[in-house]
Amino acid sequence: MRWFRNLTAILVALAAGCTAIPPPSGPQPETTVTAATDPTTSTSSTSTTAAPVTTTTLPGEPKALITPKGIPVAVRAVIENGYLVTSPCGVPTIVRDGEPVYGARVVLDPGHGGSRDVGAQGRNGLPEKQANLRVALETAARLEERGISVLLTRTGDYATTIPTRADLADHVGAEVLVSIHHNAPTPGPSTRPGTEIFYQSFSAESRRLGGVIYEHVVAALSRFTEVAWTAAPDAGVITVLNRNGRDTYGMIRRPRTPSVLVEMGYMSNPAEAELFATEEYVEVAATALADGIEAYLTTDAPGSGWYEPGRIFTAAPGLTTQGCEEVPLE
Ligand SMILES: [Zn+2]
Repeated sequence: MRWFRNLTAILVALAAGCTAIPPPSGPQPETTVTAATDPTTSTSSTSTTAAPVTTTTLPGEPKALITPKGIPVAVRAVIENGYLVTSPCGVPTIVRDGEPVYGARVVLDPGHGGSRDVGAQGRNGLPEKQANLRVALETAARLEERGISVLLTRTGDYATTIPTRADLADHVGAEVLVSIHHNAPTPGPSTRPGTEIFYQSFSAESRRLGGVIYEHVVAALSRFTEVAWTAAPDAGVITVLNRNGRDTYGMIRRPRTPSVLVEMGYMSNPAEAELFATEEYVEVAATALADGIEAYLTTDAPGSGWYEPGRIFTAAPGLTTQGCEEVPLE
């Protein structure tokens, strides 16, 4: 019991004639605070000292927080006046209030966001960041309906860095991280969707996750037979390694959580961009992603669709903290 260890630490400190509470250690700082003002916490006083010491117990330790503006952030510590969190741009920040999150089985990552990182741009004016977010929000709703907890790395049109997104999934102990994208530039014509799923070269779980999601997404999108699809010759579930032999995309290379990056189709193909702008597409895509994620979590489905060998490609660096414009958190 963490509260008990905290209390012991405080009593030891007091017995040693020290009035300061020992500082927390490790990446998951202790949640004990003094003179708590948060009405959601309960307090108790020790009776063994002349000067009362107040400890605070919380229902476990929040791993993340949905801030008053609806922004999900990783919680580094519960502090006297709120929470020490990592901002979407990766900066340590204090937030006074919010809805604590104690864990999530699935983290969904709508790629891109904000004015400087729109992703691919459809000729119909649809920016990839918006298509990614619509599909992610709808996928989250479907998973939650099925009792599978979800946290999003982005909930609106704002910037967040790749390390921050990857860290959020690891930090909440997610079983699955799925990054959602729509691709460019346009490859050659194809009779079926050119869905590509990038998986972690070091993870058998990620490989299976990719294969299971791929089956569901390609089967679902293939229903849109009127669309003039495009596909790369090696479309499928693949690794993409840089010239050093490491996974080239940060959303794949960084997380310890089994992760895949799904390129649903080609935003740069006008026919596909038209489809991606429809409500029907969002519903079909979200259902397929939710079905695939649920199947991965609840069955031993092996998946399929891998293409070997993978690509060799060195991706351009993503948004950094320096180039990232912070969104108001509260
Ligand atoms: Zn993208």
